[in-house]
Amino acid sequence: MATDARAEIKARLDILDVIGGHVSLHRSGTQHTGLCPFHAEKTPSFSVSQQRQAWYCHGCHEGGDIFTFVEKIEGVDFPRALELLAERAGVELEKDRRGGARGAGRRRSIELNERAAKFYEYVLWNLAAGGAGRRLLAERGVDEVLARRFRVGFAPQGGQAGDALSRYLVARGGAALSEVAAAGLAGRGGRDLFRHRLVFPISDERGQVLGFGGRALGDATPKYLNTPETGAYHKSTALFGLDQARQALRELRVAVVVEGYFDVLAAHAAGVANVVASSGTALTREQVRIVARHADLVVLCFDGDAAGRRAADTAVDLCAVERLAARIAVMPPEFKDPDEMVRADPAAFAATISGAEPEWHVLLGWATAGIGRGVDERRRAGERVAALLRRIPDENTRELYAREGAQMLEVSAASLVASALTEVRAANLTRGRSAVDRVTAPLGVASPSPAVEAGSADPGLGDDDLGNPPPSWEEFLAAYAAQRPALARLLVDEMGLDLDDLASPAVRRILELARSVPPGSVLPLHALGAGDRRLAARLSVRDLPELATDADPVALERAMADCVRQTRKAASRGRARREIDDLFAASGPLDPERDENVAARIRRLLAEERESPE
Ligand SMILES: [Zn+2]
Repeated sequence: MATDARAEIKARLDILDVIGGHVSLHRSGTQHTGLCPFHAEKTPSFSVSQQRQAWYCHGCHEGGDIFTFVEKIEGVDFPRALELLAERAGVELEKDRRGGARGAGRRRSIELNERAAKFYEYVLWNLAAGGAGRRLLAERGVDEVLARRFRVGFAPQGGQAGDALSRYLVARGGAALSEVAAAGLAGRGGRDLFRHRLVFPISDERGQVLGFGGRALGDATPKYLNTPETGAYHKSTALFGLDQARQALRELRVAVVVEGYFDVLAAHAAGVANVVASSGTALTREQVRIVARHADLVVLCFDGDAAGRRAADTAVDLCAVERLAARIAVMPPEFKDPDEMVRADPAAFAATISGAEPEWHVLLGWATAGIGRGVDERRRAGERVAALLRRIPDENTRELYAREGAQMLEVSAASLVASALTEVRAANLTRGRSAVDRVTAPLGVASPSPAVEAGSADPGLGDDDLGNPPPSWEEFLAAYAAQRPALARLLVDEMGLDLDDLASPAVRRILELARSVPPGSVLPLHALGAGDRRLAARLSVRDLPELATDADPVALERAMADCVRQTRKAASRGRARREIDDLFAASGPLDPERDENVAARIRRLLAEERESPE
């Protein structure tokens, strides 16, 4: 069913319209080209094929279909991209009944939270009851323009029953008390959750209010109170300020993560707009994953105290797992948090953010800070550094910091690495695989592939293909299948292509997908993994004269037959070579009779290889 909806969306929307809303495209031959919205460039390397409904950037090697484009440009996941495009295409997404009910509950929660936000704003700016909130904002140096931009509001005490908001929503919003409770705005009895608090709406990236963070006035407790889990609000994924940061994130691809609501407002006041805060929780892996959709680098800017350092320390591991490059902005000791610093010196805050240093470098500095010449002291610092090195997933990066740590401690890097590795092995023995995973998980951003740096022969390859680029004839096969999926069936069922003969697993997967596509459809690029998708997208926008509408069908058939032959030949050559390797490996000590047999067998294999059909 879902596949039908996707096909229907693709049929109703044109890729040129969807992408054209964000990129100014110009016709160039059979393609349209423009400046890539995903990397900074002056000459266009972004290609769109209307016929294949595919796009690919020859600069940053991203590519895909309309779903992938919306995912990347809006910074959303696939289900959300599907929803956005379905809305635009006017396609009803079929949901199972539970999913449908969940969706309706979520929508109602958002509606009521939106009404609540308006109510709180009105109270803050127009009523005497909001005076305490206005005074707190003034105390914190937040002006009205900034506060209104973030839709800050004030939750009143609400009279004897403490139910001002609930009464309002029931009377004016036609809500049932049970709905107000389900939206996280009141308890079952109708008593408002937020009373006599400054409230910060927490929205999704499009500005829909999901819930609130409420700050107490004076010494009331708890100091911060958040919306509980509801159909719309999930604290592990909520990021305060994301909607306001979106534009800056798209331009800079750098996200600043701070701890509190006032820190986000302060950062904006200081001209730093690419900023978000985790709300009501320490930074979670889900939040890091969302940040990673909007940015290629994160700057962690936490409070300067021990708790802030611990938070940064934990966040670094989460970023490493999500392969998000991280930096740590260290607050000068005289300031408690970003908010305090901005109020004292906005320019210095912006400088602290831009001067943030790589995460492991900062952690290393903390691990070795203030150590004297004493042997014990240095040994303990050495242990701390070794423990730190153990957390660095990428081997080259670990090596680099081992050298830096060794210099700081005046010991040899080898001994540090050795003790880090010993710990890793010991941990593996006692704790199973988790430590191994942690250490060997590749850190894509820290070690650019040498092939990319050296300027590889075919810069069109995505990262995932760099290790093992398909042979050229296999690329042609994948290109035929990507551009005209029906050809995949022809290749396999009539021209005798054996998919197991393909050396590139990516090409095999693309051909398999193409074979499963109904006649007349384009290849659903979004159904492929990231590496395969980039490869297929690149091949989709390639100009192939033999596929032109006016091309000679015989030429196409000859070209395809040639690729099938090359594939078969390479596979048989590979098998022969493996057999020879096995024979050599098995030969052991000298044995004239057996060696003569091996030699004869090798001669035969080599001859076969030479004679295998062209
Ligand atoms: Zn690009």
